[in-house]
Amino acid sequence: MLLRCDLHNHSCLSPCGSLDQSPSGLAQLAKERGLDVVALTDHHSARNTPAFAEACARVGLLGVYGLEVATVEEVHCLALFDTPDEALAFEQVLQPHLPAFPNNPEKLGDQPIVDADDNILGFMPNYLGVATDIPFSQLRPLIEGAGGVFYPAHVDRPAFSLLSQLGRIPEGTGPVLEVSRHADADTVDRLRSDGYAVVAASDAHYPDTVASAWAVVDAADRTWPAIWEAMRARCITALHPLQATAAEKTSTTPIT
Ligand SMILES: [Zn+2]
Ligand SMILES: [Zn+2]
Repeated sequence: MLLRCDLHNHSCLSPCGSLDQSPSGLAQLAKERGLDVVALTDHHSARNTPAFAEACARVGLLGVYGLEVATVEEVHCLALFDTPDEALAFEQVLQPHLPAFPNNPEKLGDQPIVDADDNILGFMPNYLGVATDIPFSQLRPLIEGAGGVFYPAHVDRPAFSLLSQLGRIPEGTGPVLEVSRHADADTVDRLRSDGYAVVAASDAHYPDTVASAWAVVDAADRTWPAIWEAMRARCITALHPLQATAAEKTSTTPIT
């Protein structure tokens, strides 16, 4: 089955995310804009994933639960899990690797933890927009050891990406790489010809960029393990907005 997947999004918990971007608002907009599978991946925290799971269930989306992790080289990578509990457990694994740098909400932005009805439950005290002390080479085993899926985020971006920070794609990184909604077709073609499975994601921090990019994955069923298996097997049939098919360009309804 063909599933429109956008596996990189932020909520109000990310200091750089809009306060209007609640987990429930993200789920609702993603559904309205035709996505089937959506991940919440705030910087270094999964505290809004329980609310996101509830919101996804309400609107009939498949949720994926994760965190965006910055390595010591400031390479942004995704850690994706099947359940909020697994994502929350991985947040604990990350804790010793994060600097205890108190947040300054006025300068750096609020980091509210909310429920599925947008009620504020608390605030993350330490600034989440930092880098860990984990080298790129050690992040993958850490995530996979916690039962998660690892791949580098927005590799085409001129900052905070594998190519901008390391200048190359180290051996053993693939097969899946994410490109941003700004990636050009040449970059995608080059990565594919090097053997990578390329997905696009919106990396939405604001409501107006929700569902601005996605990958169409041809999965055996509508579960995260099946989708990940299909991604690794390169069963990715289109990237929006980079390589939308004619049907994708004209359709505004889910294609499943
Ligand atoms: Zn990033
Ligand atoms: Zn991001």
